Amino acid sequence: MINAALEQSPEHEPAQRGWEWPWWRTTRHDFIILPWFILIHVTALIGLILFPLPGWRILVGAIALAWIGGLGTTVCYHRALAHRSLKLHPALSAALTFFAVFNGSGSPVTWTASHRVHHASADTPGDVSSPALYGFWWAHLRWLWQAEAPSIERYCPDLNRLQYRIWKPLQPAILTLAYFGGLYFGPAAFFWLGSIRLVFALHAQCFVNSVCHMEPNTPFGQDSSRNVGWLALMHFFQGENWHRNHHARPSLARLGWNWRQPDIGYALICLFEKLGLASNVRHAPATNAAP
Ligand SMILES: [Zn+2]
Ligand SMILES: [Zn+2]
Repeated sequence: MINAALEQSPEHEPAQRGWEWPWWRTTRHDFIILPWFILIHVTALIGLILFPLPGWRILVGAIALAWIGGLGTTVCYHRALAHRSLKLHPALSAALTFFAVFNGSGSPVTWTASHRVHHASADTPGDVSSPALYGFWWAHLRWLWQAEAPSIERYCPDLNRLQYRIWKPLQPAILTLAYFGGLYFGPAAFFWLGSIRLVFALHAQCFVNSVCHMEPNTPFGQDSSRNVGWLALMHFFQGENWHRNHHARPSLARLGWNWRQPDIGYALICLFEKLGLASNVRHAPATNAAP
């Protein structure tokens, strides 16, 4: 059924060609991603064996970096850049982008283009990361090194400017700092502030593409997004786990729609708005309805 669907959508086929490859084969443009993932996973494993209890200062530091990096992804990349649900002050946007790159989220232009492709064709053959079509591991990780790069001109011409493009060439230096920077504070910090934090942040984000698109009994080719409560813990209650809400109203800055759906990302957006650091915020209408 999947192959038939792909054949019916030849314009989308190139983006998903990698689905039929062995898992280790990479696209030419993203050849570095798989070795990078292997490096951080192996280093994280060694770190967990050597320093299973890093001490509270290092733990707080690692959580703080993952927290602000996650905020960079959800508030800046996702809500402000990809969906234009709000406008951030340029200085705040740049600061959040730095921490998102530092957390392994990639460059804002690439992130936005891939995400807009995802929304434009959720769970249909053009979707870059659909588990319904290509399976859990494709949606969770493989598409990151096996899917063709989306067209920047087509999917995010609004970000085709130096202030956004600059982050891609800066990324290797920022990730080198992210990986090695903890060494300054000692060997336990090297592992926990670097690879362990990066592996945690990677899977927290990837679960949005995989488990948040695995609603049971969804007919083939229909949106399989769902809200996943437990994922709020990995996202520090920043809101990304309310993914069904998001697909239902993607232009809203608010992802958690009632008091049972905590959304610290939206709470901070409201604070930024009061402080004059955010404008044009698309607030959700008051509602208690959960989808
Ligand atoms: Zn989605
Ligand atoms: Zn989105």
